[in-house]
Amino acid sequence: MSEEKLRQQMADVGRILDRQGHCPGTSGNISVKLADGLLMSPTNSRLGRLVPARIARLAADGRHLDGDNPSKEVIVHQALYAARPKVGAVVHLHAPWSMAVSCLDDLDPADAIPPLTPYYVMRIGRLPLVPYFRPGDPALAATVGRQAVVSHALLLAQHGFIVGGRDLADAVANAEELEAAARLFFKLKARPHRTLTAAQVAELENAFPKKI
Ligand code: ZN
Repeated sequence: MSEEKLRQQMADVGRILDRQGHCPGTSGNISVKLADGLLMSPTNSRLGRLVPARIARLAADGRHLDGDNPSKEVIVHQALYAARPKVGAVVHLHAPWSMAVSCLDDLDPADAIPPLTPYYVMRIGRLPLVPYFRPGDPALAATVGRQAVVSHALLLAQHGFIVGGRDLADAVANAEELEAAARLFFKLKARPHRTLTAAQVAELENAFPKKI
């Protein structure tokens, strides 16, 4: 896909995510990997109002080449790309249900949301919890880089989540599935409920091996 089309696709999916209420205020950011760099949503921009020509373009070494200044969270995206070379796009959201789950105090840090549905297992699988760091702290990016070796999806304590996909459409679908699972988990948590069994999860992992 040409860079021009990718910029348009970023604006289109930004509108879709915003319409679903996944990016309150100017929160959340999306990026797409290019052969020689990165396209990144600008700092202080509303994902629902991205202007394709103003999306930030970064060189492979991270230099800002054109467009508005990239979100300061670009270093977290770069850490995920570095850890998982097959990831072609990244979505980071402060989506309300994921945010609510990220504030719970009894999460399994190795896998924060249990396997409730097959779609969640197929799109997300394991969801490690990244401890809290203040926004912009380089230690957040370093920790994401380390934990992304385990999974392309990470829950960020008191912050939201970051998830990669093969391309932008795949990353957005992963983000939507993760937010839907967070909502389901939060609603079911106080009630007796079943999760998929280890055998059912293994069956899904065999039938639909991870591609990223
Ligand atoms: Zn954030």
